[in-house]
Amino acid sequence: MKKLMICIGMAAVLVGCAPKEKETAEQTQPKEEFKYLVDEFADLRIMRYQIPDWDQLTLQQKSYIYYLGEAAKCGRDILADQNFKYNLVVRKTIEVVLSSYQGDRESTDFQNFMVYAKRVFFSNGIHHHYAEDKFFPEISEAYFADLVKGSDANLLPLNEGETIDDFIAFLTPVVFDHDLYKMRRSSEDDIIANSAVNFYEGGLKKAEVENFYNKMRKPNDATPISYGLNSKLVKKEGRIYEDVYKADGLYGEAIQAIIGWLKKANEVAENDIQRDYTQKLIDYYTTGDLKTWDEYNVAWVQDSVSHIDFVNGFIEDYNDPMGMKATWEAIVDYKDLEATKRSDLIGENAQWFEDHSPVDPRFKKEECKGVSAKSIIVTTLGGDCFPSPPIGINLPNADWIRKDYGSKSVTITNLMEAYDKAADESPKSALQEFAYSQEEVDLCKKYGPDADVVHTNLHECLGHGSGKLLPSTQPGALKEFSSTLEEARADLFGLYYLADPKMVELGVMPDAEAYKAEYCSYIRNGMMSQLARVELGKDVTESHMQNRKLISEWCYEHGKDANVIEKKVENGKTYFVINDFEALRGLFGELLAEIQRIKSEGDYASGKAIVERYAVKVDPELHKEVKERYNALGLKPYGGFINPEIVPIMENGKVTDYKVEYPSDFVAQHLKYGKEYSFLKAVH
Ligand SMILES: [Zn+2]
Repeated sequence: MKKLMICIGMAAVLVGCAPKEKETAEQTQPKEEFKYLVDEFADLRIMRYQIPDWDQLTLQQKSYIYYLGEAAKCGRDILADQNFKYNLVVRKTIEVVLSSYQGDRESTDFQNFMVYAKRVFFSNGIHHHYAEDKFFPEISEAYFADLVKGSDANLLPLNEGETIDDFIAFLTPVVFDHDLYKMRRSSEDDIIANSAVNFYEGGLKKAEVENFYNKMRKPNDATPISYGLNSKLVKKEGRIYEDVYKADGLYGEAIQAIIGWLKKANEVAENDIQRDYTQKLIDYYTTGDLKTWDEYNVAWVQDSVSHIDFVNGFIEDYNDPMGMKATWEAIVDYKDLEATKRSDLIGENAQWFEDHSPVDPRFKKEECKGVSAKSIIVTTLGGDCFPSPPIGINLPNADWIRKDYGSKSVTITNLMEAYDKAADESPKSALQEFAYSQEEVDLCKKYGPDADVVHTNLHECLGHGSGKLLPSTQPGALKEFSSTLEEARADLFGLYYLADPKMVELGVMPDAEAYKAEYCSYIRNGMMSQLARVELGKDVTESHMQNRKLISEWCYEHGKDANVIEKKVENGKTYFVINDFEALRGLFGELLAEIQRIKSEGDYASGKAIVERYAVKVDPELHKEVKERYNALGLKPYGGFINPEIVPIMENGKVTDYKVEYPSDFVAQHLKYGKEYSFLKAVH
C-alpha cells in the first residue's frame, strides 16, 4: 500500500497517490558521458543511477552509508526463498552454469539461457516480478541438462548423495513444467494452495491460516502488532506454528550478517536517535519480537533530523495472498537538500494557496498546514527494492503508528532522474508518438521532468490536505467514487497552481512557460496514452487513471466551443492539441471548484454522474489505435537498476575514503552478489 512504483513509458501506480506516468522522451545528443540505459531483454530494461554530491559527505557519513549498504545486500537470499521454495536452487544452478560452463557461449541456445538467467536475477526468482506468473527459458530440457552437466559439479547445490542426473530430474519440471508452481501469488481458490510463494508450508488452507491468526488477535487492541509479518506458517504432524525469521530462527544466517553490519553502522551513526532505533532493529532481528518492531518504527518515523536514513526489514505484504507476511527489503539513502527545499517552500505557503484557490469560500480551510514531502537520494537498493525499486516510499505500514506518530513520505529523486535520462537514451518514445508537434516534444523535454515533480509536490503537499467538509457531511459520503474524486481534486489543485505566477515568484518553477509542458503531457495522457495500459474491450477502473481521464475529458468537452483542446487526426493518427493554455487553466479551476463542492457537500449523485460520464468508458476505436501505436514502439514496460558500488580506499591498513563506482554489467553484479552475499543453503 505504501509504495509508488513506476514502469517505464507507463508508470504503474500500485496504490496511493503517485506521480503521473512518465512518457519516454526521444533521444537527443547525450548531455553527459554517464550512460543510464545499459541493457534490455524480455520486457525489461536495466539502468544505472547516480549518487550525486557524494564528495560533500564526511568520511563518517560515507562509512555509515557503506555499512548500511552492506547490510542492505545481505538479505538477497531471503527474498528469493520467500518468493518460492526452490528459487535458491534455480538461481545457484544458474550461477554455477554462468561461471563454469565449458561449452559454447556464443550459440543462440546459450544466449536464450542468458536471457532466462537475467530474468531470474531480475525477478528474484522464477516468477515475473510484477505479473507473478512463471516464466520459461526458450531452450529445450535437453540443452538445459547439457548446461548443468557441462558445469562444475562440485559447485552445484546437490543433496547429500544426489547424482547429477537425479538433480536434473528434480530441477527440470521446476523450471519447465507449465502447470507446476504456476503463480507466485494466486487469486484462485484456495489462494494459499495455488500460490507458489513460500510463506506457508505443509498444505495449509486459507481457513486454517485465518483461524490461526484470528485466535491470536486481541479484540479492541488499539496498538496491535503486525500479526504474522515475520514468519512462515508451518503445518506439521497436525500442529500449526510460526517459523519466525530471526537470528537463531528461519533465515538466521542472513539475519546474523545483517545484524553484524548494522552494529558496525551504529558505531559511526550520525546521532543518538539513529543509534537508539538501529539498536531496536537489531533487538528485533535477534528476537523476532513484533512489539520491538513497532517500537523501532515509532522511533524511526520521528527522526526528522538525520541526514542519512535507511529501511531494512520485512516490510511490505503485497506478495502474500493473505496480505500479512512481508518480504525482506532494504534501501540506504540521504536527503536531497535541493529538492526538499522546493517542496518545503510549497508547504510553507500552504495557507496562501488555500486562500487563493478558486473554490467556494465555504469549503476552504481557515487554517491550513502543508505536508512536508522529503526527497531522497538512494545509495543502495536491496531485497524487494532491487533491482526493481519504488520511486517513492511511505512508511511505516502499521495504521496505528501512522495515526499516532505520522509517516515518512519520500520521493527518490535520483531514481526518477535515471528513469528520465534512460528514456532519453531510447531511440523510440511515447512522447514522440503521441505529441502532435516537434514544438510540443521540445517543450516537454525542456520542462517536463521539473514540472512533473512540482505537480506531484502540489498534489501531495497541498492538494489532498486542502478544503473541508461541511459540518453536516459524512466523511464516506462519496462511497465507491471517493478515491477517484479525491485524486481528481488533488490533481486539479496542482494543475491550477502550476500555472500561477506565484510558482515562478517562489522560485519553484523556472519561468512562465514551464507549466505548459505538464498541461500537454497531462491531456495527452488522460485522453490517450494511458489507454495503452487498459485491455481492449475493458473500461478504465483504476482510480488514478479514472481521475486523469475525468479531468481531461471534462476539459475537452467544456472547452469545445472555444476550441481550447483540439482533436486532430493526421495520417490516421489522433492527437489532442492545446490551443489556449490560459483557458485550460480556467477550466481546471472550474472543475476543481465543482469537485470540491461535491466533496464538501457529500453530493453522491453528482459525484457518481461525473465519474460515470467522463472517467470510465473508452472510445473503442481510439483505444485500439492507441494500443497499436504504443505496441509498435516496442518499449520495455519494466525497469530495474544496477547498484553503484561503494568502495573503501585503504591507506596503511586504514580506510581513508570511500569512492563510488558505477558498474554496467547486470549479470556480473548478480554473480558478485551471489558470491559475496549468499548466506542461505539452497535446499530441495
Ligand atoms: Zn493522491
